[in-house]
Amino acid sequence: MTTILIVEDEPAIVELLRVTMETERYTVREAGNAETAWRMIEETPPDLLLLDWMLPGQSGLALAKRLRQQTRTKALPIIMVTARTEEADKVAGLETWVDDYITKPFSPRELKARVKAVLRRLTAEASEAPLQAGLLMLDPVSHRVHYDGKPLMLGPLEFRLLHFLMARPDRVFTRAKLLDTVWGDDADIEERTVDVLVRRLRRALATHHLDAKLETVRGSGYRWNPERQNDATASS
Ligand code: CA
Repeated sequence: MTTILIVEDEPAIVELLRVTMETERYTVREAGNAETAWRMIEETPPDLLLLDWMLPGQSGLALAKRLRQQTRTKALPIIMVTARTEEADKVAGLETWVDDYITKPFSPRELKARVKAVLRRLTAEASEAPLQAGLLMLDPVSHRVHYDGKPLMLGPLEFRLLHFLMARPDRVFTRAKLLDTVWGDDADIEERTVDVLVRRLRRALATHHLDAKLETVRGSGYRWNPERQNDATASS
């Protein structure tokens, strides 16, 4: 049974979130502010948090940061619910703290899709199932990467970066987020180190003409695009 904790202060939105989640047969719990949510999570962590940004008292973002700092709740899936009025640059940095976000007003269908995608991603990671993009195969158990049966030689950091990105195709990640994922939160490393690592990973991918799949998104960060082909590969 999957439990969703809704943290939201507007009754109408709570209702919409609750009804939508219940049609998916999730068990729903509710909290009207961050403090109540914190206590409920301490007691029994839910499987996923639908977290409003603007709450009375402590904000949803502050709660997310607090949860990420605790070993027990570090990996708790969080989808942030934001309003259009929130500043674009702040929203862009959100992915450092939450798994995904959805902007009000949203349709029940969009909400369901986001929740399912986050839960599915976690299941895939937990099961350590091999990840695939065309002929490229990454095996999280043996830490091996193959292309068309031929091994791809990667260092541990390159492997971790590729693993993270392949598990989350088509999503843009900031350097800060990637830094945190590959090196861990405590690492005191500059963000441009991420660029160096990306270059190394691209060089390894280039041996099989796969480097175009690791895209640079100007002003934002990086994205794994499994559909993208190197120009040379596409024309041959
Ligand atoms: Ca609110």
